[in-house]
Amino acid sequence: MSSQPRDVYDVTIIGAGPTGLFAAFYAAGMRGMKTKIIEALDRVGGQLAVLYPEKYIYDVAGFPKILAKDLVRQLEAQAMAYNPTLVLGERVEELRYVEDGVIELRTNKNKHYTKTVIICVGRGAFQPRKLDNPSVNRLEGKGVYYQVRDKWQFRGKRVMIVGGGDSAVDWALNLKDIAKEVILIHRRTKFRAHEGSVIELFHSPVKIMIPYEVKEAHGKDRLEAVTIFNNKTGEEVTMEVDALILQLGYLVDISIFKKWGLEIIDNAIKVNGKMETNLPGVYAAGDIAYPVDSVKLNLIVIGFAQAAIAVNMAKNYIEPGASIFPGHSSEKRMI
Ligand SMILES: Cc1cc2nc3c(=O)[nH]c(=O)nc-3n(C[C@H](O)[C@H](O)[C@H](O)COP(=O)(O)OP(=O)(O)OC[C@H]3O[C@@H](n4cnc5c(N)ncnc54)[C@H](O)[C@@H]3O)c2cc1C
Repeated sequence: MSSQPRDVYDVTIIGAGPTGLFAAFYAAGMRGMKTKIIEALDRVGGQLAVLYPEKYIYDVAGFPKILAKDLVRQLEAQAMAYNPTLVLGERVEELRYVEDGVIELRTNKNKHYTKTVIICVGRGAFQPRKLDNPSVNRLEGKGVYYQVRDKWQFRGKRVMIVGGGDSAVDWALNLKDIAKEVILIHRRTKFRAHEGSVIELFHSPVKIMIPYEVKEAHGKDRLEAVTIFNNKTGEEVTMEVDALILQLGYLVDISIFKKWGLEIIDNAIKVNGKMETNLPGVYAAGDIAYPVDSVKLNLIVIGFAQAAIAVNMAKNYIEPGASIFPGHSSEKRMI
C-alpha cells in the first residue's frame, strides 16, 4: 500500500542556472507540468550570477550583447511567469526511487517528491578553491574575497587579484576603471584566460606580476598589505592593498552523482541524444551533461536546447500519450 498524500511534482529541476531556469519555463509554461526548481544558493543564475555578473555575453541568440546579470533577470522573469515552485538555499544530496516510480530527493533540509528529475547543476555546487594559507583565510570577508558580488565595493581601492584564468583576468579588466589600482599576480608566466582578454590586459593599466605567489596577508582586523614572492628568484615584495581577490577556480565535486548510480564520463553525467541518463525518469542538461555521440560544449545556448529536449522527454515519460513536440509558443495561449 502506498502512503501517497505527499506533494508529488511532475518534474523537479536541480539547479537554477540558465539551463535550470529555462527548463522551468519550458516545463511549466510550454508543457503545463507541475514544476519545482531546487537551488543550493540563495539566488538564481548559476555561474552568470556568481562568477561574472558584470560581464557582457555576446553569443546568446537575439541579444547582440547583454550583461550576465540582466540575462539572469530575464530568464527568471520568463520562468517565474508560470509559477514553478522555487526552493532556494537547499542542496540536493540524495536521489532514490520510492513506490510507484516516485523519486525522492533529499536535500540538506527537506525531502521532495517528483515523477521526473532534470539535473542542471553545471559544475556542481560552487566551492571556490581556497589558498592553504592561514594568514589569508583569517581575513576572509575583511579584505580577502573568493567571490565578488558587487564590483562597486572596490571603487577607489587598491586591489590585488590572484589567478591566471578567465575570472581573474576579467575581474582585473572590470575593476581597472573603478579601483584606484589593480595588481594581478599569477604563479605562471602564461595565462589560461581567453587570448583576447589577455591581449587587452597587457595593454591596460593593470600592474601584472608574474610568476608571483602570495606569501602572507597582513592586517589586524582588516587587510592592509600582502607579501608576494617570485617563485623563480625567491624575491619578496610587500604591497599595501585594501582588497585581495583570489580567483583560483572552483572545486568540482560530482561524487554524489556516482552514489546515485549515474554513469559519469569526464566529470559529467552521461546522457544520450534525448538527454536521458541511465536512471529512468532522470535527465541531465547544460554543463553537467555529457552527450555521447555528440560534442560537449559548455555554452548557455547549448544548455537551453538540452533543457527543451529534456523537458519534452520528461513530459512523454510521465504521459506516454503526450506528443514529444510541444508545438510552437507563438501558436499557444501564453501569458
Ligand atoms: C567567466 C565565464 C564566462 C563565460 N562566458 C560565457 C559566454 O560568454 N557565453 C556562453 O555561452 N557561456 C559562457 N560561460 C559558460 C556558461 O556560464 C555556462 O555554460 C552556463 O552557466 C551553464 O549553465 P548551467 O545552468 O548548466 O550551470 P550553472 O550556471 O553552473 O548553474 C548550476 C546551478 O546549479 C546549482 N547546484 C549545483 N549543485 C546543486 C545541488 N546539489 N543542489 C541544488 N543546486 C545545485 C548551482 O548552485 C548553480 O546555481 C562562461 C563561464 C565563465 C566561468
